[in-house]
Amino acid sequence: MTEYDAIVVGSGMSGGWSAKELAEQGLKVLVLERGGPIEPSKDYADFVTPWERPNLDQIPEDEVKNDYPIQYRAVRYAMRDSTKHFWVKDSEHPYVTPKDKPYDWIRGYHTGGRSLLWGRQSYRLGPQDFEANIKDGHGTDWPIRYDDLKPWYEYVEKFAGIAGSNEGLEQLPDSIFQPPFEMTCVEKEFKKNLEESFPTRKVIHARVAHLTKPTEEQMSLGRGPCQVRNHCNRGCSFGAYFSSNSATLPAALKTGNCTIVNNAIVHSLEYDEVKKRVSGVKVIDAQSKEVKTYTARFVFLNASSIATAMILLQSKSASFPNGLANSSDQVGRNLMDHVSAAAASGEFEGFDDQYYYGRRPGGVYIPRYANITEQDKPYLRGFGYQGGGKRIGWTGNRPGIGEDFKQANRKPGNWQVGLYAFGEVLPNPENRVTLDKTKKDKWGLPLANINCVMGENEKIMMREAQKDAYEMLKAAGAVNINRGPDTELTLSLPGNRIHEMGTARMGRDPKTSVLNEWCQAHDVPNLFITDGACMPSGGCQNPSLTYMALSARAAHHAVKLFKKGEI
Ligand SMILES: Cc1cc2nc3c(=O)[nH]c(=O)nc-3n(C[C@H](O)[C@H](O)[C@H](O)COP(=O)(O)OP(=O)(O)OC[C@H]3O[C@@H](n4cnc5c(N)ncnc54)[C@H](O)[C@@H]3O)c2cc1C
Ligand code: SF4
Repeated sequence: MTEYDAIVVGSGMSGGWSAKELAEQGLKVLVLERGGPIEPSKDYADFVTPWERPNLDQIPEDEVKNDYPIQYRAVRYAMRDSTKHFWVKDSEHPYVTPKDKPYDWIRGYHTGGRSLLWGRQSYRLGPQDFEANIKDGHGTDWPIRYDDLKPWYEYVEKFAGIAGSNEGLEQLPDSIFQPPFEMTCVEKEFKKNLEESFPTRKVIHARVAHLTKPTEEQMSLGRGPCQVRNHCNRGCSFGAYFSSNSATLPAALKTGNCTIVNNAIVHSLEYDEVKKRVSGVKVIDAQSKEVKTYTARFVFLNASSIATAMILLQSKSASFPNGLANSSDQVGRNLMDHVSAAAASGEFEGFDDQYYYGRRPGGVYIPRYANITEQDKPYLRGFGYQGGGKRIGWTGNRPGIGEDFKQANRKPGNWQVGLYAFGEVLPNPENRVTLDKTKKDKWGLPLANINCVMGENEKIMMREAQKDAYEMLKAAGAVNINRGPDTELTLSLPGNRIHEMGTARMGRDPKTSVLNEWCQAHDVPNLFITDGACMPSGGCQNPSLTYMALSARAAHHAVKLFKKGEI
């Protein structure tokens, strides 16, 4: 007799969904979360004003250097003294990379994981993304197509709440939307001029997981409309952006079927050689270091791509000497992220008498056109641009004191539009995470050894994206365009876009993939993986919405199997 029907490992973006769907269908669910609990009244800092804090809420330099060198380098815009507890200390959670292959592993260990910290940009994959691998031969074929996931996108969007606009684009299908945030005057101008000059390209509202017209269901969970303050990386007391904390976990707990255990570091999964099933989840208490095993009929791994691969690799048995569910040797391989580097900005004249209300989360988005509406590209796949238009140069980020300083900050600056490309990274089996052979963390677990580089396609793509960004701003009427360096671009470090994916990919063939079309391990029927690890390719869209849809879809399938007694 097992203690629970299901165990979900990790309470972040994907784990929250797994827990909600399983609990709402009547199963007794245990969520194991390695980090501590989050108490909004104590942990959120969205009502903290910097002038009330020592050092204007900056983290002291020595502390950054000693404890957060990697996290801070990647997300300094979000890290303040009052929010640093949302990020892991690099000093406490080290990992290993070859000297010449740095990797940014950016994390938050607490209830809600990085769903509390994300940028909320939410886009569906399009039909082309599910066919890319089979068409150009990189990676393994997705075992599902867009139409398989479409109803599940709709399902999660209705619950999560996505602000955006219907555009009818095939490559970036519309979501179920709440009203978008209005474009600024220069964004409207940029859109009009750009679409006239480049009929194959579009400028659309950024799609963001913010409530602009909350539903009854959303309000019943204590969520309210977005106040347009852009304080979101401090947590949101209004529950206005989607997170596990504001949405899925409250829904799961409301059922009375869900238990969350914090400070529970999953060490490994135990395997029953006779029943050929996972039989238990071995956990180390983060504080007392006490070891305990929990049991359930099936397990969902949602610890995020790298951590999930590490748990599998750590779970060795006679049948799986190289790690659980790893007969294909694909666990830990094909680690992907998105790539950035291409960026440009330019000023727009003639709008000095105009302004905008509030600080919108998200601005505009230029959906992928490369190898979709334009076929003349010297690279495979494509990229989208995130961007926005606002008045710059009066946000207080200047040195000074006294009357002159105050006056300078009262005068609105010029209008500027900025563009920033996010490109697809091809799956490559040599980009991988393994367990370090000698180094261990303070709980005695092997460190992750991450070996990952950007490839030639990514370099060419970003070089071209840089040129395109400049040409689009020029054609749209921008002046003083900052087009970036003329020399070879420095690509974003792998991991730095914080979209890690691919380390336990889905596929049709158990010999070349870890999971089947339901995110269920080919080798172990009562094991499901629905975080980014399951992705056979990454598209160029921000991926979390896809993890949500895959998690909900897999959870419903698992419940069917459970009720039939098959798992
Ligand atoms: C600053 C920032 C901006 C981002 N912007 C966007 C965006 O705009 N759009 C987008 O789509 N995505 C964005 N992302 C990425 C997004 O946050 C991730 O894709 C998403 O959170 C991944 O979900 P997950 O469930 O795999 O992992 P997480 O949300 O990270 O959750 C994993 C959970 O597992 C726990 N865990 C890990 N190991 C163990 C273990 N051994 N035992 C028990 N528990 C464990 C962790 O503590 C964590 O709570 C952003 C991320 C960051 C940090
Ligand atoms: S901008 Fe909206 S979602 Fe962000 S913290 Fe403010 S109310 Fe919350």
